Amino acid sequence: MPWIDPDFPHTATPSDVVGRVLGLNPGMMTGPGTNTYLVGTRNPILIDTGIGVPDYVPLLERYLGERGWARPSRVVLTHRHKDHLGGVKDLRARFPGLPVAKRIHRDDDLPEGVENIREGDVIEGDGVTLVPIYTPGHASDHLCYYMPEEKALFTGDVVLSGSTSVIPAGDGDLLDYMASLRRLQTYDVRRIYSAHGPVIEDGPGRIAEYIEHRLLRERQILETLGDGVDTIPAMVKRIYAEIPEKLHQMAGQSVESHLKKLMREGRVSETVVKDAPSRWALV
Ligand SMILES: [Zn+2]
Repeated sequence: MPWIDPDFPHTATPSDVVGRVLGLNPGMMTGPGTNTYLVGTRNPILIDTGIGVPDYVPLLERYLGERGWARPSRVVLTHRHKDHLGGVKDLRARFPGLPVAKRIHRDDDLPEGVENIREGDVIEGDGVTLVPIYTPGHASDHLCYYMPEEKALFTGDVVLSGSTSVIPAGDGDLLDYMASLRRLQTYDVRRIYSAHGPVIEDGPGRIAEYIEHRLLRERQILETLGDGVDTIPAMVKRIYAEIPEKLHQMAGQSVESHLKKLMREGRVSETVVKDAPSRWALV
């Protein structure tokens, strides 16, 4: 299935307590668009809100109508990226008084009145429970939600179907990300509902694959450094020889996230060079 699948259904009911409404924002970074989930048997909790595409709220209302629901009871967000919280404004205009919550962490640009979700909070819905799990790495404020009734995880952008997660320079952190994946592994998980793409039936398999993929990259980078290839552009050329040049900048971001992780672990060092790429070395 292509990452940007034009035939990806706009709405779906993957289980008795989970409904999905697409954010209608397809693209390179979002695949078919951002999934938003309605969770519960009545008065559903809405997880994420899309980017704020005007057609999203009417689509959500149509789906609510099909299920015999009037409105979401509240909104909980996985993280602050625009394609997850951008729909808050339109939703509040349509459903006045709608509570919105997320883990507030290094946030300086949130819509007004967003409530904080604290470590240890449990979110009760109708017939469902959402246990927030702090999972920084893709974003420093990221929460996944575990639903014990179905042994399901809502993973936001931490685990995706059809793509690897991006670790953005700046707010992203690969060392934290790996710890977050391992934290998810401590839960008894079957399914994963991710923010992009279809349901992942084998949740533990996918998480293990993600960890393995990063460890493989790390080995390649250490090997390349060992061969004396010491700048990010040169490493990208070597490691990503088979991918188109236009994707090399994104690949460079990935290599950089690995080098920063290795530096935090004391395994590599960086020498900053004026007007040229940094030189990296094994410690
Ligand atoms: Zn994101």
